[in-house]
Amino acid sequence: MTTAAATTEKIFVTKPYLPPKEEYYSYVDRIYETGHLTNEGPLVKELERKLSDYLGVENFQYVTNGTIALQFALKAFGIEDGEIITTPFSYVATTSSILWERCKPVFVDIEPDNFTLDVSKIESAITEKTKAIMPVHVFGYACDVDGIQKIADKYGLKVIYDAAHAFGSEYKGKSLLSYGDVSTLSFHATKLFHTVEGGACITKDKEVSDRLSLIKRFGNIGEEHYCPGINGKQSEFHAAMGLANFAHIEEIKQRRKTISGYYDELLEGRLGRPKTQSGLEYNYAYYPVLFKTEEELLRVFAALNKQGIYPRRYFYPSINKLSYLDEYKPCPVSENISSRIACLPLYPTLELSMIKRICNIIEKV
Ligand SMILES: *Cc1c(COP(=O)(O)O)cnc(C)c1O
Repeated sequence: MTTAAATTEKIFVTKPYLPPKEEYYSYVDRIYETGHLTNEGPLVKELERKLSDYLGVENFQYVTNGTIALQFALKAFGIEDGEIITTPFSYVATTSSILWERCKPVFVDIEPDNFTLDVSKIESAITEKTKAIMPVHVFGYACDVDGIQKIADKYGLKVIYDAAHAFGSEYKGKSLLSYGDVSTLSFHATKLFHTVEGGACITKDKEVSDRLSLIKRFGNIGEEHYCPGINGKQSEFHAAMGLANFAHIEEIKQRRKTISGYYDELLEGRLGRPKTQSGLEYNYAYYPVLFKTEEELLRVFAALNKQGIYPRRYFYPSINKLSYLDEYKPCPVSENISSRIACLPLYPTLELSMIKRICNIIEKV
């Protein structure tokens, strides 16, 4: 007898969106016609233009990934040492980008409603060495952008948002990406909008944008060399995938919203959920659920895994607990949330029958 798991494909927390082949090929045809493969070609320019229009932001610098986008943001402000206040509840890249720029991540705990940086705890973490605050709009929820800006202004700190989850989220009538000094995006294959690999820096400040543009191309324009840069340019093939995906962005967002709605209905409040934020137009980037205990989470995971369904423990462990950090700074809220939070499968081609199956298994356990 074959089990259900053996007869169906495995279900993961996400599945990269693939546009219709012909649409991707039509962009690839253009690359073959022009012979322009990289170095800020026409497709990269077109994608930058379309994305900044769509998101309602200016000074959009497309780069090779979301991690280097964070490193570039630090570089653009000349931050080469010192302390960066950040969140322990994120993907590890937020902290590793700080470490690679030879700075020290200083963890401030999160608040329990939306899992973003707890603004009331920032000031006591500031020292003379603090250079910037790097919060995360985790799962696409908004940080307390006004509270953070107030503190940054008071102490003269830069605010760099890791906005890898915030594509398409709007807050108080404008893009969530328009807050802070720089916001960074990731267009990794697993994200809401992707270009296979890719990322971006967005800033209100044209000068910062020009610096970012230099940094990503070796610090050089023609024969002039302005600063030590590195290679963070994106290729025309990546832009081609981005442009093909972009044509479907509304459909992708709508489908995610519908699926999240199914989960809401079928789970009937059995699991904890982030609080609804007033003023937030959510992008449905993830469907995080909070179990009562880690033990309950593990029991549900075991039952789902048996059926070939693999949700993810996002984010686990809490980054402040990583063994390679110089010191351990307790962040009890983040550690507690990390131990019992998971993201359920959420992607445009996920079918209602599968969502029902997932919810049934959760209900039984
Ligand atoms: C995905 C992600 C990144 C890293 O982006 P890459 O494009 O994979 O380098 C950084 N921060 C967060 C919060 C992410 O989810």
